[in-house]
Amino acid sequence: MTALPHTSSYYAASAKPFELQAQLTESIEADVCIIGAGYTGLSSAIHLLESGLSVVVLEAARIGFGASGRNGGQIVNSFSRDIDSIERTVGKENARIFGEMAFEGGRIIRRLVKDYQIDCDLKDGGVFAALNSKQMHHLEDQKALWERHGHHGWLELMDNNGIAKVVGTDVYTGGLLDKSGGHIHPLNLALGEAQAVLSLGGKMYEDSAVVDIVQGEPAVVKTAKGQVKAKYVIVAGNAYLSNLLPQLQAKSMPCGTQVITTEPLSDEVAQRLLPQDYCVEDCNYLLDYYRLSADNRLIYGGGVVYGARDPADIEAIIRPKMLKTFPELASVKIDFAWTGNFLLTLSRLPQMGRIGTNIYYSQGCSGHGVTYTHLAGKVLSEVINAHATRFDAFAQLPHYPFPGGHALRVPFSAIGAWYYSLRDKLGV
Ligand SMILES: Cc1cc2nc3c(=O)[nH]c(=O)nc-3n(C[C@H](O)[C@H](O)[C@H](O)COP(=O)(O)OP(=O)(O)OC[C@H]3O[C@@H](n4cnc5c(N)ncnc54)[C@H](O)[C@@H]3O)c2cc1C
Repeated sequence: MTALPHTSSYYAASAKPFELQAQLTESIEADVCIIGAGYTGLSSAIHLLESGLSVVVLEAARIGFGASGRNGGQIVNSFSRDIDSIERTVGKENARIFGEMAFEGGRIIRRLVKDYQIDCDLKDGGVFAALNSKQMHHLEDQKALWERHGHHGWLELMDNNGIAKVVGTDVYTGGLLDKSGGHIHPLNLALGEAQAVLSLGGKMYEDSAVVDIVQGEPAVVKTAKGQVKAKYVIVAGNAYLSNLLPQLQAKSMPCGTQVITTEPLSDEVAQRLLPQDYCVEDCNYLLDYYRLSADNRLIYGGGVVYGARDPADIEAIIRPKMLKTFPELASVKIDFAWTGNFLLTLSRLPQMGRIGTNIYYSQGCSGHGVTYTHLAGKVLSEVINAHATRFDAFAQLPHYPFPGGHALRVPFSAIGAWYYSLRDKLGV
């Protein structure tokens, strides 16, 4: 079989063994067919299987092939645009719901890691680093905002001296530590979640690109060599979906971002750079993000290529950023460099919705997707579950038209009522 391989990254080189799943070559049925095996698809699959529905996942390449298997690995709470921005769009009352959900994705990841014993180098603690006093004021506001939405006890503002104790550079004015942030080996998280899907009885097919969705009840999801008839479909292809559903493509734009990984650093150097092993992202609009791997490499990402054209020389773009933050790494070798695509929306807020009655989608987390995608999987499973059980229980009851139509329904009903009450009186 010739499934498109994982991009050549540090993650692919250190991935846990995972047996290649077969290509779909037959016609099968399921309650739910999920298109795409990134975190959105995998989290949806696990939550749906846990609730008792049958699930088939179709992946065009390999499980975790997209952004989920090649990202910075940073567990960042909230959304790409924060809750205050959502509040301006949807009003205070509705924003409260987003406030409750903003910190759920990280909890879902930790729950899955624990319940399914996923070995993905999970570490706690993420730092937002300010490069100037304006960004520091923004972090003060962010702390107040998150605490207003119930995120208490996790956040700690750091001044210039404070941040120097957790990041070994002098470029920052200060920062905000979120102890409930953290980092993971992203591909091993995806593969561990895929293992969980299989252990729950879900079916997964790799090298099985969906080429058409025939809408209907059931919907028919077609690949080149097979098809899945499903009561519900979840579209989770995100930046790699291309034009399968032009209406989704029209409201989003794939963007590339690049990551480099150094050779393993000595314990002393690693300890000097990130003594608490937190992950870090700065507060620039086009931000730098970095962290240590389990084997002491520095994984450093940054830059955005709108439209997702792959840059010719990734190291030439990212290495100068890394050296600006950590000049002492000037002679360190770069072992891996890769690019990956995330999906940008105009509002920088994710898009979740439904096409027709039974095709659900979630896409466009605009850069901060590790937590949101896990939340999205749970939300999609909740709505499909309610649809598949309670809603369908009512929906299966027949809806008869009143005899006589709009004009005669009142007199006909009155005659019927008179007839039945006469029978009551006569005791027949
Ligand atoms: C380099 C990089 C660094 C990042 N760093 C971070 C970070 O540190 N923290 C953070 O929060 N976010 C980060 N992100 C964003 C985050 O990784 C994504 O938002 C998230 O992983 C998206 O998950 P997903 O499941 O929606 O999509 P993806 O992981 O992209 O998965 C989509 C899958 O669908 C498949 N697919 C597409 N079309 C079809 C089809 N027709 N048929 C079948 N399968 C199909 C693809 O092959 C792919 O495997 C980063 C993104 C990139 C690219």
